Amino acid sequence: LICRLETVRELSPDQWIDLFGQWQAERDPSILALICERARLTKEKIFGNKVYIRGLIEFTNYCRNDCYYCGLRKSNRETDRYRLDESTILSCCEKGYELGFRTFVLQGGEDPFFTADRLRELIRQIRQRYPDCAITLAVGEHDRSAYQSWFDAGADRYLLRHETANENHYRRLHPEPLSGQNRRECLFHLKEIGYQTGCGIMVGSPGQTAECLADDMVFMKTLNPHMVGIGPFIPQHATPFAGESPGTLEDTLFLLALVRLMLPAVLLPATTALGTIHPEGRELGILGGANVVMPNLSPLNVRKKYLLYDNKICTGDEAAEALSSLKKKMSAIGCEIVMGRGDSPLVI
Ligand code: SAM
Ligand code: SF4
Repeated sequence: LICRLETVRELSPDQWIDLFGQWQAERDPSILALICERARLTKEKIFGNKVYIRGLIEFTNYCRNDCYYCGLRKSNRETDRYRLDESTILSCCEKGYELGFRTFVLQGGEDPFFTADRLRELIRQIRQRYPDCAITLAVGEHDRSAYQSWFDAGADRYLLRHETANENHYRRLHPEPLSGQNRRECLFHLKEIGYQTGCGIMVGSPGQTAECLADDMVFMKTLNPHMVGIGPFIPQHATPFAGESPGTLEDTLFLLALVRLMLPAVLLPATTALGTIHPEGRELGILGGANVVMPNLSPLNVRKKYLLYDNKICTGDEAAEALSSLKKKMSAIGCEIVMGRGDSPLVI
């Protein structure tokens, strides 16, 4: 396994399968410590000790899709649905701007209320008010023309986890008509249009094998994204995967570190899900190669309603209001929060 780590950027699909197989057989803590250390050094060569922050605005929890793992899926009758109106979204940005955020991430379910035109108008307004901020979208799969119009209105970045690059695994996680092929096509469209583009996966999602992870690494190498979102799968009690086991801290750290070694300049968040499965999950993620955190800027009264998975943290240090406490935690591990847009070095 150690030998393979030297050549992570050139591994063949079979070698990846081998690597994940070995990891899953042993889960050797000393190997994990070693790979995390290498990933951290790789990150520091490009980014130093800087950690970028993004203000996350979860603006709607309506969704037309039915992904088996997600608490926002349309069949979940327990979800207390909300959507923020334009002025509330703009006040989230205002609050975020005052706190020092220069990237806003608009994340939501695929909510038909937010038509391409409505979203374009919202993006236009944010762009006009905050010319020095980056606007990131995470609103799922749409036509290329919608992606283009949002880009033209001022959106800069787009997060769309591919979830899994393995077709059978994709089907295990999503009912028809969703398809892995369409999702991957969306990612190529986003990149062609000029977005700083992010893909990603959940670690430990039901049915994920060494082969699936190998397919993910090969796909990510091909897409060469600017950002990669990786967090553990965590079951949500009102979904078909309620009884499944969550992904582990160790497996997630292993994946984060591998991605850093394979794509050295990538922007890699230590996710809220990682902070949910372990009290120091985000710090450990940063120490293992991650370099982004995304505190929550959504209005307090809706935070508990955006329940993708159970026990999602939302009022502690991951809250945007707790920025000073986050800064302290980061400086305790030798890192410094940067108040700026934090664009991908691949486009600067
Ligand atoms: N609807 C958009 C989409 O699917 O791309 C954006 C919002 S969606 C809630 C954002 C991400 O949440 C998904 O890409 C998925 O990986 C993650 N997610 C959903 N359910 C999850 C769960 N049970 N555990 C961990 N992550 C989850
Ligand atoms: Fe909707 Fe995204 Fe959840 Fe799937 S993962 S149900 S698209 S919010």
